[in-house]
Amino acid sequence: MTSRPPLVLTVAGSDSGGGAGIQADLKTMLALGVHGMSVITAVTAQNSLGVQGAWELPEEAVRAQYRAVVDDIGVQAVKTGMLASAALVETVAELLAPVDAPVVVDPVGVSKHGDSLLAASALDSVRTKLLPVATVATPNLDEVAQLTGIEVADEAGMRRAADAILAYGPRWALIKGGHLPGAAPEAVDLLTDGTEEHWLRAPRYDNRHTHGTGCTLASAVASGLAKGLTVPEAVRQAKAYVTGAIAAGFALGAGIGPVDHAW
Ligand code: PLP
Repeated sequence: MTSRPPLVLTVAGSDSGGGAGIQADLKTMLALGVHGMSVITAVTAQNSLGVQGAWELPEEAVRAQYRAVVDDIGVQAVKTGMLASAALVETVAELLAPVDAPVVVDPVGVSKHGDSLLAASALDSVRTKLLPVATVATPNLDEVAQLTGIEVADEAGMRRAADAILAYGPRWALIKGGHLPGAAPEAVDLLTDGTEEHWLRAPRYDNRHTHGTGCTLASAVASGLAKGLTVPEAVRQAKAYVTGAIAAGFALGAGIGPVDHAW
C-alpha cells in the first residue's frame, strides 16, 4: 500500500474536447501527484473551434456532489472554475465559506474563442460572494476588466488591478498578464497580498495551442497548496508547470489545441 496523495477538489465545467475545464484540472492534478476530485457545474459541447453549447447543472446536483466528496473523503485544497450563473456562484460560495482548506478561485468569464462561460448577471455575485472566500484569485486581464472596470495596459496597471481585486476580499491576487500588449518576449504575472509583491516572469512561447492555460494554472496552484506549499511557492511552481505545458501545447482539430499536461 502506498501513502495517500493530497486531496484536491475542482468545482468547474466539463470541456468535451478535453483541453480545459474539469478535464484540464484532473490531468494537471494527476501530473502533479495529487488525488483529483470533481464537482461538475456545467457541461459544454466544445472542441478546438469553440463552445457549441453549454448546460448548467441544477443547484441540487452541485450541492450533492460537494457533500458527497467533503463529508466522506475531505479536501486539502479547492479550485473553482466555470460557474455559469449567479445561482451557482452563490451556491458554491456558500458551500466553500466554512471549508478548512485553501480555495483558489479562477473567475472564469469568457473562453479564448470569445464564448461566454459566465452570465453577465453573475459578476456581482463573483465580486461580493465568491472572491471573499478565496485564498488566491487568479483573473486574467479580460476578467480583471469585467470585474473591476480597469483596462490594464502596463505593469503599473497590473498593480492597480491587484489592489481592486484584493478589495473584494481574497487573501492573495494573482493577476495574469499573459495578454499584456507589448509584454513579449515575457509573460508577466503579479502575485500580491497587498503587502508582499512577487513578479513572476516566464518566456512567452509563440504557440497558439494554449487552450486550458487558466484552468491548468489554477489547478496547479491548488495542488501545491494541498501539498503544504506557501502561496508564493505554490504559484511559482504552478507557473513553471504551465509554462512547460504551453511550450508543449499541440495541434488538435482545426482550431486551437490544448496545453500538454504530461510534458
Ligand atoms: N471551457 C471550460 C469548461 C472552462 O472552464 C474554460 C476555462 O476556464 C474554458 C473552456 C476556456 O479555456 P480557454 O480560455 O483556455 O480556451
